[in-house]
Amino acid sequence: MAKKVFIGVGHGGSDPGAVAGGLKEKEVNLAVALACKAELERHGVAVRMSRTKDETDSLEQRIKECNAYAPDLALDIHHNAGGGDGAEVFYHYKGGVSKVLAQNVLDAIVAAGQNSRGIKVKLNAQGRDYFGFIRQTVAPAVIVEGAFLDNKADVQFIDTAAEQTAEGVAIAKGILKTLGVAWVPEVRYTVTVAGLDRSAAEKLAAEMKTKGFSASVKVA
Ligand SMILES: [Zn+2]
Repeated sequence: MAKKVFIGVGHGGSDPGAVAGGLKEKEVNLAVALACKAELERHGVAVRMSRTKDETDSLEQRIKECNAYAPDLALDIHHNAGGGDGAEVFYHYKGGVSKVLAQNVLDAIVAAGQNSRGIKVKLNAQGRDYFGFIRQTVAPAVIVEGAFLDNKADVQFIDTAAEQTAEGVAIAKGILKTLGVAWVPEVRYTVTVAGLDRSAAEKLAAEMKTKGFSASVKVA
């Protein structure tokens, strides 16, 4: 049976999360999570997200959905604020698969060019996990804080759609490693269009570039 992963998307709707650097956390979280989902599905992993658009979604709801789905692994995606630099991942105080997942995800984000603040445990007054998402989910769970939205260097890492996709793909690589699924690079294709006059060729190349592809004009 296919492996199952639950991706919690932090905040949403009336709760924007951190707002800084021209970015809203709820939007960055969603873009990163969607890219992560696509990469996991490309590898045959089944994915359920807590939300796939901008909507209000309580933490209690997210935890309930996660436990009902009964995934192999669970992640809650967030981005930080409050003065710091780099990515950090929180795991269950008892360690286990949660700790392995945290390390694999952090390693993959760092490999994508981000600084590391390490993997961490945060306890409440009762000596159990502070974060409900880690404490109350049945599956091994982590909370990913990909970057600080109020840190200029971090904003440079995350402020374009391509960078948000790259972070989502990195998180997926960490998940796949934890699941024992080998990551395979996506096959890319090149299209050659011949027979255009110079201005039509340049126009088409420019249009493709605005869509994020590389394009060049050559004499046939
Ligand atoms: Zn958050």
